[in-house]
Amino acid sequence: MPEIEVTIEIYCARCEKGICNNAEATRGRQRNEPQFRIEPCADCLAKESKEGYEDGYDAGINDGKKEGYDEGYEAARKEFEKAEEMKP
Ligand SMILES: [Zn+2]
Repeated sequence: MPEIEVTIEIYCARCEKGICNNAEATRGRQRNEPQFRIEPCADCLAKESKEGYEDGYDAGINDGKKEGYDEGYEAARKEFEKAEEMKP
């Protein structure tokens, strides 16, 4: 089968950053069709993760919690240690 070589640029659809380094050209296992495998844009993943954390923090505050996860974790850990000390 004749083959051709094609140069393709790949950009993140959300932030427009070039993400060629996140992509590889390959072939399908069954029909040997050309395929691209593309990792999600690292910048957008980091942004979504940060927004998810902040949304969770805000939701906790709106739920009546006075502090976020980190502070809540710390308070729970102190309670746990106190309980451990009181064990006979
Ligand atoms: Zn992006």
